[in-house]
Amino acid sequence: MREVNVGHKSLADYRSIVPRELMAEIDELAEGLRGRRVLHVNATAFGGGVAEILYTLVPLTSDAGLEAQWQVITAPPDFFNVTKSFHNGLQGHAVDFPAAARELYTQVCRTNAEALTHPYDFVVIHDPQPLAMRDFVLPVDGHTTHWIWRCHIDTSTPDQALYDYLVPSINRYDAAVYTLREYVPEGLTVPVRPIAPTIDPLAPKNMQLSVEDATYIVRQFGIDVARPLLLQVSRFDPWKDPLGVVDVYRTVKAKHPDVQLALVGAMASDDPEGWHYLERVISYVGDDPDVFILSNLDNVGSVEINAFQSHADVIMQKSTREGFGLTVTEALWKGRPTIGGRVGGIPLQIEDGVTGYLVSSAAECAARCLDVLADPARHRRMALLGKEHVRREFLTPRLLRDELRLFSDLLAGKIEA
Ligand code: UDP
Repeated sequence: MREVNVGHKSLADYRSIVPRELMAEIDELAEGLRGRRVLHVNATAFGGGVAEILYTLVPLTSDAGLEAQWQVITAPPDFFNVTKSFHNGLQGHAVDFPAAARELYTQVCRTNAEALTHPYDFVVIHDPQPLAMRDFVLPVDGHTTHWIWRCHIDTSTPDQALYDYLVPSINRYDAAVYTLREYVPEGLTVPVRPIAPTIDPLAPKNMQLSVEDATYIVRQFGIDVARPLLLQVSRFDPWKDPLGVVDVYRTVKAKHPDVQLALVGAMASDDPEGWHYLERVISYVGDDPDVFILSNLDNVGSVEINAFQSHADVIMQKSTREGFGLTVTEALWKGRPTIGGRVGGIPLQIEDGVTGYLVSSAAECAARCLDVLADPARHRRMALLGKEHVRREFLTPRLLRDELRLFSDLLAGKIEA
């Protein structure tokens, strides 16, 4: 296990951004949890939504008066091939899970569990990679640790054999948290809480950038800032449908020859498929000077993502399966016209035709892009309504409140299956 240094954040900085009642609830819950020790565990400190959330949630939990830490499991590269197949299998693909893979998975979880030293009050394990650690932790005399499994993916129709393998480990937890109640597969006996994720409005990725700064940054990547830009920010992953986004762009371009497309996708260290899929996207695009495929390898970090999202004329998240879709939250927070796949957590965030659009095909998505380009002012007003929805529902203090409430209910024995 390796500790991630999250630095310091102050809850006071969020008081002017989120509703006052929310901050009051946090203060009250935190009072009863002062000094409690919390550990979050996941598979990577970089890339993807979980890392994004923990960089803010962990320091804000500490600022609320608890002692919060974040550790990342250590594992050989092969382990991430196994757990990526878990990810795909839990999202509904048929996957192969041979004995050697089970062996490696168990061994990594055992080794990481043995590295847990402190008697924590709450351990929150994120996603399937470290799930089975719970199986290998011995009780500490006189101390109760509450174990929570936080599942960030839509597991409503999992590969059955894989699910049957994982479910006993899930049921060993004291509580499981899913983004939506609909994601909970049958057969769980563990108490479940639905809690949606959130973004940090003050992180470099989401803080307010001036129009001039955003334009200045985007221009450095070769974008012509005088012409319209379509954008998708996502890992290079088939579920995010980047090839579909290219199809959308081609349809839009037939009517709007000046349009450009940026596909910005971080390469996460726990996602070995990403490299292969990136190659696929590059060859699918072919030789088109108006398509920009960029990633952290091109020095695109948080501020650059912010600039792209703040500048784009239309932001798409054309996923075909999506746990939540933090990129949608990020797009709406910047008040940009946003079009999302009608899947997973995206409809929680976009009210179709009111704050953005939900689509089920490339053709529908292209039609909506053309609507936005034809009337940017109306769509900007819609997006600003979306931003207010994000302010109320999807900023980190709300997640902190829900998590503190869960901790306090676990302590009080007030959580039912
Ligand atoms: N992200 C990033 N750089 C990229 C692509 C994605 O920083 O090139 C971030 C993105 O801004 C978002 C997170 O990774 O904060 C992705 O979270 P989401 O829930 O959309 O998808 P996940 O990757 O967890 O499936």
